[in-house]
Amino acid sequence: MMELTDGWSGLLRRSTLSEECGVFGVWGHPDAGLLTHYGLYALQHRGQESAGIAVRVDEQDLRLRSGMGLVSEVFDPEDMKNLGGRAAVGHVRYSTTGEPSMRNAQPLCVRLQSTLWALAHNGNLVNAGSLRSRLEEEGSIFQTTSDTEVIAHLAARVGSGTARHRLETALGQIRGGYALVVLTPDELMCVRDPHGIRPLCLGRLDGGWVAASESCALDTVGAEFVREVEPGEIVHIDDSGMTSSFLGQRPSRRAGLCIFEYIYFARPDSNLAGLNVHQVRKQMGRYLAVDSSVQADVVSGVPDSSLSAASGYAEQAQIPYEMGLVRNRYVGRTFIQPQDSLRQLGVKLKFNPLRKVVQDRSVVLVDDSIVRGTTCRTLIGLLRTAGAGEIHIRISSPPYQYPCYYGIDTSRPGELIAADRSADEVRDLIGADSLSYLSVDRVAQAAGGDVADFCTACFDGEYIVPPQGEHDA
Ligand code: AMP
Repeated sequence: MMELTDGWSGLLRRSTLSEECGVFGVWGHPDAGLLTHYGLYALQHRGQESAGIAVRVDEQDLRLRSGMGLVSEVFDPEDMKNLGGRAAVGHVRYSTTGEPSMRNAQPLCVRLQSTLWALAHNGNLVNAGSLRSRLEEEGSIFQTTSDTEVIAHLAARVGSGTARHRLETALGQIRGGYALVVLTPDELMCVRDPHGIRPLCLGRLDGGWVAASESCALDTVGAEFVREVEPGEIVHIDDSGMTSSFLGQRPSRRAGLCIFEYIYFARPDSNLAGLNVHQVRKQMGRYLAVDSSVQADVVSGVPDSSLSAASGYAEQAQIPYEMGLVRNRYVGRTFIQPQDSLRQLGVKLKFNPLRKVVQDRSVVLVDDSIVRGTTCRTLIGLLRTAGAGEIHIRISSPPYQYPCYYGIDTSRPGELIAADRSADEVRDLIGADSLSYLSVDRVAQAAGGDVADFCTACFDGEYIVPPQGEHDA
């Protein structure tokens, strides 16, 4: 049985931009469905467009529930309690195509010969377009526009063998940044791309196994962190235990966890590669204060993602930290609104300056990144209206100049405000009194390594998996 509880909707359209997502998986726990439900709550920051859970019902069947919206909107907790299941995978999706589509909600459930597979995937493949065209020419019919279905079709073409063999063979043909959890009635498989661009970790709970994009989701369900899935590793878990193997394809270049996970994307209470994200961000803020000090009365951060860096800046600069902006928690992300005017309205809905804090004071405003510039420009306008004196923008990452092809939504180069502008030009455009960025070396240093340890393509254009000319650059 494979149950689709929601109707299909949305336009069939090739996805050209990236997908940020969160994945979660459980094997060998009587509350697998419920745990996955809670795990997805913990990963909600990684995607708010759709959510889905596939639960193993018995040796043959998986049951899928997915829908558009937040985890709280898609699932009724009472339903989840009764699902049982012993194993499950879940997914939250943040599409950046601008057209939300139920077709692309995951997990993607397919039947490969007689076995049901549920795939939950975070990231983007750089060669999905060419693989899809080839598969279509050869007769494959696609139901979705997501890269994940390409993996499913490739696995389907592997004539025979175990699910693990099929998956390995399929993954041998794809390139990009991904973290993938795949459930069949017989096993759970957890994979990271050969560079380890997207994160994935493993934990244990009551004798069972838990996999999650971020360790904060393990904490939420009470699982004990065991380790991260290594770059290029396939972790295979079934009732006889856990085994591990590696994709044949070795990275031609360095390993490369996405540095933007540390800067913006991951939750501050997650640990990545052994480092706590909050502490890394705080260190970025300290370096920013050392490298770009300025006299000011108060330091504020743009809630929530910049608060760690702002506190580090304030501590290092010995300037009082204050809440200069209040964030409305009930307004979602503004980032993906298609028109700039709508994005600006979104920023105003989301933030309100604290007049009593900023009025007649010189303010250092710390944000984690400037992508299109909408947030900064609008916030500076709001702060000026609230009576702020000088406004000094400090960004805890370098100028964002190149699009990401591995799973972070960062638009097209034409929309990236720093793509062809100096810091002074950006400063003038956003209306700040001063603007400084943190260097890529400093960001890497704060994250416990050097630039060669990370994917920093968005800052330096060094694509560790070369894009294959199929993106709207
Ligand atoms: P922008 O307004 O386009 O300059 O975007 C920068 C703001 O959006 C910053 O405040 C970041 O915290 C946030 N941000 C950066 N990257 C992303 C992303 N991939 N998705 C959503 N928000 C982001």
